[in-house]
Amino acid sequence: MNAYVAKVLNQLKSNQPWEKEFLQAAEEVLESLGGLMDRESKYEKYSILERITVPERTILFRVSWLDDAGNVQVNNGYRVEFNSAIGPYKGGLRLHPSVNLGILKFLGFEQIFKNSLTGLPMGGGKGGSNFDPKGKSDNEVMKFCQAFMNELYRHIGANTDVPAGDIGVGGREIGYLQGQYRKITNTSECVLTGKGLNWGGSLIRPEATGYGATYFAEEMLKTRGESFAGKTVLISGSGNVAQFAARKVVELGGKVVSLSDSSGTIIDKDGIDEEKLQFVMELKNVRRGRIKEYADKFTGAEYLEDKRPWGAVSAEVVLPSATQNEIDEDDAKALVSNGCVCVSEGANMPSMPEAVEVFLAGNVLYGPGKAANAGGVAVSGLEMSQNAMRLNWTAEKVDSELKNIMTNIHTACFEAAEENGTPGNYVNGSNIAGFRKVADSMIDLGV
Ligand code: NDP
Repeated sequence: MNAYVAKVLNQLKSNQPWEKEFLQAAEEVLESLGGLMDRESKYEKYSILERITVPERTILFRVSWLDDAGNVQVNNGYRVEFNSAIGPYKGGLRLHPSVNLGILKFLGFEQIFKNSLTGLPMGGGKGGSNFDPKGKSDNEVMKFCQAFMNELYRHIGANTDVPAGDIGVGGREIGYLQGQYRKITNTSECVLTGKGLNWGGSLIRPEATGYGATYFAEEMLKTRGESFAGKTVLISGSGNVAQFAARKVVELGGKVVSLSDSSGTIIDKDGIDEEKLQFVMELKNVRRGRIKEYADKFTGAEYLEDKRPWGAVSAEVVLPSATQNEIDEDDAKALVSNGCVCVSEGANMPSMPEAVEVFLAGNVLYGPGKAANAGGVAVSGLEMSQNAMRLNWTAEKVDSELKNIMTNIHTACFEAAEENGTPGNYVNGSNIAGFRKVADSMIDLGV
């Protein structure tokens, strides 16, 4: 390992040993920058690795709100403003009981390189709360979002920090957050992306992450003269990313045979077509029900309680789209021995490091999240542009920009991997290509 990389990693591990997801992400990024550090001494000279691994600002706050029974509830609120070298902080808000600072630092850190890869001027950030929207009424979700924004508003702004959705934050939550921001500040500036179409949103934003991960997979497959046509595809999750990844795969001629949620997995060997997907969208986005209902509704579908889709059925392409660390080493081995040739990560860091090793050793086309799922934030960037111009682009225009951006990201990762002497390694390629632009900007901007 490069000595500079080893030194910074050791410092990080001794400073915050409890932030395991952040350390996992930092280790992956820094290790893959070893070759670049050997070739370019300027990054060490300007202490770029020490600086880029520490957020510029971390905001922690109390969120107190009243539930439907009139009881006071208290949650932790966070915003990690990680790096603004190339533009305003940009990254989603996650509402999930597992949220803590280490998880948000991992997500914010990944976001720096992802946003850089899009080619758009966006820095990296992430935020959220340990609030659990599951089982809460609409009124309680609104009360929470308003209380969250009562503190967050003073730290964000169209040219400062522009949050978006993530796990547990979709159109409903963005609406309540944006509504409260407007009430407090008396402005209609673009302070969140993922907005509704009637109040400043962009066409294709809901679809962007899932479509983008599918486009990225298609680009990887093309390098081997292959495509989605006739391929069986496993998808985890059944939320925003999973739903639209499934739709695009079907459009491109693939057969999606799984979806999941945190309670279990459904396997449908006949394939999840557009009609079945409509059922899933109504189930998840309107009724907020459990994926198990799919198996009750469609004959031939099977429900696997407490299971993830990996290894349940053979598939050539895998689009993990639920959460971090959802594929371990054994899962990866099962996928490879079941014929998997391509993994494109809709979720952030869904594969554990040992699983990534299995994919790389098995010559699987492996697209890490920071490249493969960058389509969501890319279209958020396009939403910011449309808001600034006070224009709305057509769905066709946004989709074609998205496709273009995903193709460019693929090319940048592919070429950076080749230049690094590790052809076909998209982990190295994405980290190097994403890092360079931010690091060089940090040097230009001074200490
Ligand atoms: P949603 O909240 O819409 O959906 C998340 C899905 O994953 C749900 O089906 C959820 O099940 C499942 N899930 C969440 N946590 C767990 C867990 N611990 N174990 C098993 N299943 C789980 O979120 P998104 O679709 O927006 O996000 C999914 C992933 O994609 C995340 O990693 C996110 O960071 C990433 N991502 C999202 C982007 C976006 O634009 N939305 C952009 C880039 C990345 P349940 O309903 O039971 O909780």
